[in-house]
Amino acid sequence: MRIAELYGHNKAVISFEFFPPKTDKGYTSLLRTIEELKRIGPSFVSVTMGAGGSTRDKTVEIVKQIENELGITAMCHLPCASLGRAEIAGLLDDLERAGIENVLALGGDPPLDAADSEPAEDDFRYANELVEFIRSGPWSFAIGGGCYPEVHPRATSAAEDLANLVRKVRAGTDFLITQLFFDNRDYYAFVARARAAGIEVPIVPGIMPVVSASNIKRMATLANARIPQELERELDQVADDNAAVAAIGTRWASEQCRDLIDNGAPGIHFYTLNRSPATREIHRRLFGDG
Ligand code: FAD
Repeated sequence: MRIAELYGHNKAVISFEFFPPKTDKGYTSLLRTIEELKRIGPSFVSVTMGAGGSTRDKTVEIVKQIENELGITAMCHLPCASLGRAEIAGLLDDLERAGIENVLALGGDPPLDAADSEPAEDDFRYANELVEFIRSGPWSFAIGGGCYPEVHPRATSAAEDLANLVRKVRAGTDFLITQLFFDNRDYYAFVARARAAGIEVPIVPGIMPVVSASNIKRMATLANARIPQELERELDQVADDNAAVAAIGTRWASEQCRDLIDNGAPGIHFYTLNRSPATREIHRRLFGDG
């Protein structure tokens, strides 16, 4: 199923994101998580790929397994920094042969030791170049892209970031998934700016339920996502009590999702961190199952 066709049917499209585990134990646990989340009927799931293609083979293997063995529409993330054109073309051929119809085209982040170096002449630098490449090739993938309600950390300004996003969508991106955010006002303001700039594709909110106070602060900093004072205060009060943190995180994310759906968001993309309980509980609060 092409993901682009799922949106716009007056029903919130629910999707889950996973990352390839490092160990066999993590892999077994991921399969259990996917089985548990499959029961609530996600429209699709996606699997990240480490920057520079570091998890390339594992990512592709899991994507194929989800699509072909578990019967769930799967999307492969493709961060193009440090992956050459020939390697990307080979990956796309392989995915298409395996029946995968969806990719998330990403600029990705260069390895830290190469952050200031120029990519090889033939390599991609930004996601819009990858989108152009896929569109100009023999493939017929539905293409998603990333976007940043609170502005991409490397962008020099919100206006420049938006102009780059317009370029990426014009290159042929079918839908956008946002970076995590905790205050829906940031999403609504961003969608309004994107629409005013002529972006018409679905802009799907990406939601990460907080399950660990220290982790979320680190991730929020990396993602340039502001933690609202109210949420931060609540989390600080329970500090290292993981159950209490998860309860606050689940309540906060549930309220965010309810408000987003009520206000017409095309769906919710959950950053699951390979765990199912918080996402299942949020789904139960929203739709009464899970
Ligand atoms: P791009 O569209 O490439 O933009 C990156 C920066 O460059 C922005 O500041 C933008 O304004 C600027 N820019 C864009 N185009 C141009 C241009 N033509 N000229 C000049 N400047 C330009 N990372 C991973 O490594 N693996 C993953 O699996 C992964 N999954 C993700 C999933 C989602 C939903 C999101 C939102 C992010 C994900 N990331 C992942 C992180 C992402 O790769 C990084 O944030 C990366 O820095 C940007 O990639 P991008 O495709 O979103 O940005």
